[in-house]
Amino acid sequence: MQPIDLPSPNHAARPADTPIDILVLHYTELPLAESLAILRDDARPQRVSAHYVLDLDGALYRLVPEERVAWHAGRSHWRGRDGLNATSIGIEIVNLHGDLHDYPSRQIAALIELCHEIVARHPAIVPRNVVGHSDIAPKRKIDPGRRFPWATLARSGIGLWPRGTCLKLEGDMQAALRRFGYPPAVDVATSDIVAAFQRRFRPSLVGGIADDETRMLLADLLDQVDDRLRLEKGRNGLRLSRMLQRVITKT
Ligand SMILES: [Zn+2]
Repeated sequence: MQPIDLPSPNHAARPADTPIDILVLHYTELPLAESLAILRDDARPQRVSAHYVLDLDGALYRLVPEERVAWHAGRSHWRGRDGLNATSIGIEIVNLHGDLHDYPSRQIAALIELCHEIVARHPAIVPRNVVGHSDIAPKRKIDPGRRFPWATLARSGIGLWPRGTCLKLEGDMQAALRRFGYPPAVDVATSDIVAAFQRRFRPSLVGGIADDETRMLLADLLDQVDDRLRLEKGRNGLRLSRMLQRVITKT
């Protein structure tokens, strides 16, 4: 994709030796022009930015180069880490309220293309690390909203979606949410984190109550993550045995 460059002065250096491994999706809450103005304003008390802004018709604007830190996530947490700006890429998708307004298909097609390009450049962004702002800042943030088509993205290989297996979640809900990546219940209640999970994976009913369906969806996702871990282990095992074989043939 060929983005239109509209540089923002709001950026910083990436920490050394840390891969970019998280992709955060947002909605702008404002029309394109206002969003671009705020994300490129260096006179605000709280300066903000994003790497990309994606308009309703799929037009793409690049504000910050991927190798620099943009200020889009704020106070945030995923998979045991805080302050995710340092290692993430942020995309602001133009939508005035993602709970109320559908995302046009042209915009989503462009988003999927952009995500594939980003993931190809940064392979450490595994599907589990494609998140919404609401996942990494429960209660404080609700974007990209309940109408964001996560299932469509997952079908194209971007992010995770439940497969519909009927697994039973073993153990404590809060612990299981943390195992998947959600923050600990420190500044917010467990029900806020359950609501963030539902907002993402069961948008038809977001009440913060860990009912049977919610528990089943989380078990399904954890199972997929564990599958991936097993797959990784399998691949590494294979690589190791090939390496050993080469060593043995040489000696
Ligand atoms: Zn956001």
